[in-house]
Amino acid sequence: MANLDLENISGVGPSIKNKLNGIGIFNSRDLCFHLPINYQDRTRVKDLAGSQVGDEIFIECKVVSCQILYKPRKMMIIKAADKSRSILIRFFYFNPGQAKQFKANNVIRLYGILRLGRYGLEMIHPEYQMVENEDTPTENHLTAVYRATKGLSQNQLRKFIGAAVEAYKDSSEEIDLQKYGLSSELSLIQALRNIHFPTKDIAIENIMPGGQHPARQRLVKEEMIAFQLGMASLKDRQAHLKAPPLEKQEDWYKSVLNNFPHALTGAQEKVVNEIQKDISNHVPMMRLVQGDVGSGKTIVAAIAAAQSIDNNVQVAFMAPTTLLAEQHYLNLKDYFPDYEDSLALLTSATKAKDKERIKKALLSGSIKLVIGTHALFQDDISFSLLGLIIIDEQHRFGVNQRLSLRSKNTEASFAPHQLTLTATPIPRTMAMSVYANMSISVIDELPPGRLPIKTTALSMNKKDELISRIGKACMAGSQVYWVCALIEESEMMNANPIEETFDQIKNQIPSIKTNFLHGKMKAEDKLNTVNAFKRGETEILISTTVIEVGVDVPSADIMIIENAERFGLAQLHQLRGRIGRGTKQSHCILLHNDFIGDIAKQRIEILKESSDGFYIAEKDLLIRGPGEIMGSQQTGVIPFKYTDLMRDSDYLEETKLIAEKIYSTDKENSKKLIQRWLSGSIEFADA
Ligand code: ADP
Ligand code: MG
Repeated sequence: MANLDLENISGVGPSIKNKLNGIGIFNSRDLCFHLPINYQDRTRVKDLAGSQVGDEIFIECKVVSCQILYKPRKMMIIKAADKSRSILIRFFYFNPGQAKQFKANNVIRLYGILRLGRYGLEMIHPEYQMVENEDTPTENHLTAVYRATKGLSQNQLRKFIGAAVEAYKDSSEEIDLQKYGLSSELSLIQALRNIHFPTKDIAIENIMPGGQHPARQRLVKEEMIAFQLGMASLKDRQAHLKAPPLEKQEDWYKSVLNNFPHALTGAQEKVVNEIQKDISNHVPMMRLVQGDVGSGKTIVAAIAAAQSIDNNVQVAFMAPTTLLAEQHYLNLKDYFPDYEDSLALLTSATKAKDKERIKKALLSGSIKLVIGTHALFQDDISFSLLGLIIIDEQHRFGVNQRLSLRSKNTEASFAPHQLTLTATPIPRTMAMSVYANMSISVIDELPPGRLPIKTTALSMNKKDELISRIGKACMAGSQVYWVCALIEESEMMNANPIEETFDQIKNQIPSIKTNFLHGKMKAEDKLNTVNAFKRGETEILISTTVIEVGVDVPSADIMIIENAERFGLAQLHQLRGRIGRGTKQSHCILLHNDFIGDIAKQRIEILKESSDGFYIAEKDLLIRGPGEIMGSQQTGVIPFKYTDLMRDSDYLEETKLIAEKIYSTDKENSKKLIQRWLSGSIEFADA
């Protein structure tokens, strides 16, 4: 048997099995497909003298001494030296047994980042291995680095994966894709071997994610083929489902149109019409609305919801964060003032008692429109007749979550229509294959009267000056978001950047009303803070990226992004999209450190140049080098394991043709490929 249960792999007991399950590994096949995210070169030992501070290096040293200190904190310090220089090795987490290994004159090999500390060269928590002596042979292949988890080490993973790849040789797993036109000289098993154990002559950047090595390409292509097979099969299934036709436009419909304070843009009208055509049909709608931040997707969704409810079905409106769900709830209440009792908000912050009441009302049908977060996915929630699901900021949800709502009707014969909203711009040809099972609408026009945001960059040295200027702007009526990057714990800094900036602003411009917002606050406090800002009671809101999605305060006209170099382009664009929503001229200021990398510099330039999400996404693709972890996970499309649709779009054509051939002529292999690549990530069976 090629695909083994985890128990059959030597070294895997119940506790390890749990940990493996936790990172999505359930059998030996999953182990094989748990591909390295990086590699280390431990085939050659480097000289300390010839190495650069900041580099990741593999060295061999003799231990000089080992000491355990308790101040300033508990730590084990090993003095060691190679032929050229000496080095300090620090461990903050260790056990007494470890200290015993580091006897004077023992030879150790270390892999880690070379740093410059107060006492010279250092490594902090390197991976290490004791060796007999200097003649012990080094690795003969590159060392893979995997996505791991607490309590599961790289070495354990390497061992399990090695065993799994060995066991995978059975040819029944191999599908001859070359027969269908795949251009690759490698078989699947050869590709897997190359990926997990690349020979030392292979350049790391070639075999890394995004690299050009045939083994990477082979796996990416196979995944793309499998994905397209999955889409084809999903589409087939959908065509056989029945949905309630929703034609009538009555009270709710009139209510939303009467209470929306603006006229729809041409683009909104067009999309509303497309949706209406879909939902009046008895085949479930699967429509994706793409529209840049601020293009006005919410009202389009609200109109679809209203029309659905006019036809006596229920609507679930889902947002990725509690804060956004609450904002939507408040907006929708304004659109349906006569129906407050038929609206509900259900998030993880909802009190148990309220949740019980809402659950009952959803089951009885007295709640027509429920707005919520993933709390809506919970098993114990059912609807009387769910007719439409709206998923806002779809790229923030996992695919599993998206699909699990579809089987929630007590009256199982009806499948709901589905409307998905996203601001993630992906080029149209790509969208057509990723969302092959959906129809796509684009809101390609911003509401009238919006002035393009003026974006500038400013050195962090000028922060004081900027704060004074901001103070003046606030006196003149401006409202300001000030976004801080959260610093990772691993950087071992205690400063809370929000607090620091908050104090600084409070000291420098005490008369300006300033408040802060971050993810760890209680849901209620978050909402109160945002609402006070919305009402103009707060002039500066200092925040983490919790405001990134969905917060809508049209009067805010200044956005400061501190440490802009820490954010990706898509995120910067989303953040900036919080301003420029009114008719005032808005300004975005990207505060950055003086020493930033080339890519960060380019990102800032691109933002200064354009505010068009599509343009920015394309540029983003161009400046990302191979090996950067980006992936569909980040651009947020579909949970591909290895494929990055932007990066790998060149393969779309080839893999599409192959997938069509397999789907139409080879049901068995088609099923096998879907199973191998998509089981667990997309519930094709239930869709
Ligand atoms: P997004 O597409 O980012 O979800 P929203 O739906 O939050 O955008 O809308 C952004 C802002 O634009 C909101 O303040 C909304 O009221 C406003 N808006 C939406 N449509 C129009 C319109 N047709 N005319 C004027 N303002 C509009
Ligand atoms: Mg929105």
